[in-house]
Amino acid sequence: MPPLLGAIADDFTGATDLAGMLAKNGMRSAQMIGVPEHAPPDGLDAIVVALKSRTTPPRDAVDASLAALQWLRDAGCRQFIFKYCSTFDSTSKGNIGPVADALMDALGADFSIACPAFPANGRTIYRGYLFVGDVLLNESGMQNHPLTPMTDANLVRVLQLQSKKKVGLVRQESVSKGAAEIQRAFDENRQKDVGIAIVDAVNNADLTEIGFACRNLPLVTGGSGLAIGLAANFRAMGLLPENNEAGRLPHIDGHAAVISGSCSLATQRQVAAMKSVAPAFQVDPRRIAAGSAVGNDVVSEAVEWALPRLAAGPPLIYATADAEQVRAIQQELGAERAGVLIENALAAIARRLVDAGVRKLIVAGGETSGAVVNALGVTGLRIGEEIDPGVPWTVTLGSAAVNAPPLALALKSGNFGTDDFFLKAWSRLP
Ligand code: ADP
Repeated sequence: MPPLLGAIADDFTGATDLAGMLAKNGMRSAQMIGVPEHAPPDGLDAIVVALKSRTTPPRDAVDASLAALQWLRDAGCRQFIFKYCSTFDSTSKGNIGPVADALMDALGADFSIACPAFPANGRTIYRGYLFVGDVLLNESGMQNHPLTPMTDANLVRVLQLQSKKKVGLVRQESVSKGAAEIQRAFDENRQKDVGIAIVDAVNNADLTEIGFACRNLPLVTGGSGLAIGLAANFRAMGLLPENNEAGRLPHIDGHAAVISGSCSLATQRQVAAMKSVAPAFQVDPRRIAAGSAVGNDVVSEAVEWALPRLAAGPPLIYATADAEQVRAIQQELGAERAGVLIENALAAIARRLVDAGVRKLIVAGGETSGAVVNALGVTGLRIGEEIDPGVPWTVTLGSAAVNAPPLALALKSGNFGTDDFFLKAWSRLP
């Protein structure tokens, strides 16, 4: 049986988050890092292709997404998700709108939805406005994001700036009445020439009904919360058997470490919590920038600091800083340059730790995780059980490096996880 669902995710942790949700909802799931050269392994119900297309120029994001779509179509998938962050992370140029437009056109889809709601993580949509917990998106800390500051919570407005298609809205009044009513609202939007509708959702029941309502849409777009409804729909159609073991992973032995490059508020709290009980090393962006001309001395320093500490339990290596510190660094180094320098340094540290026997890694930050996984040459991840909503443990499926040992990786999107995430995750390993 070919996989049912093919997903295209615009960053690594976003992909893991979605694949984890699919596994939790009974779909055997894998995440591929970039568009693979070979056909997927057998025995999967869902495959998520992880791109690094959230902040690239829109044209590059579109090309990469279309290549991923083609690979997933060749693999036999019958429905597709374009997955982005539940905080709708994007710049005013894109890339959510341009990619959604291109995928719809490639699939011949006249209508799709945009629904980043993830109620278990506090992301809800009401009247098209995205809430993070009790506050609007633009009051949630996301207005200070280093790469994709979100200054407007009205998703109809935000998406309309990016998409060539007309953007509409399906209100919670329709959603709460169930799938038939949602489909009626889809038809109303279609009649008004809407190509993509933001869909309100405030709880998991809403997402389930949205999943049923989307059964005939070739493409849906949104956050990982969509997995709930899409999996339920496949089950209702008799295509997906009940499976309580969809997230079973092999056991991995070896040293452990935490690497954090996210500056999100949740990660700042997680770093503080771990620092108070475990050894921690702060990577200084100014020193990375100064050292980039003369070599990787910050990387060596961090690795030499970590190695003798590994036997006593996972150490923390972090660049995480608060909004004020990030602004100062960005003014000095340029936002993009600072981001890339830090990502590369953290990725090089991860590579050297694995060479030294680390087999279990928690990485905080979407871009940071992408850089780490690239540096490790990982090509795919089998998805295990969730640690916190949106963050599963995973085990590497393959690596570009010959004889690379399997690794247990937890790739955490910035805003996810409880404050003690870095401490408690180890007890949830398979
Ligand atoms: P998140 O998942 O929270 O968005 P990301 O890793 O995707 O985290 O993005 C955080 C960005 O901030 C990365 O590019 C990272 O290199 C950069 N960064 C990390 N620490 C600092 C710092 N101290 N100053 C400036 N930028 C930083």
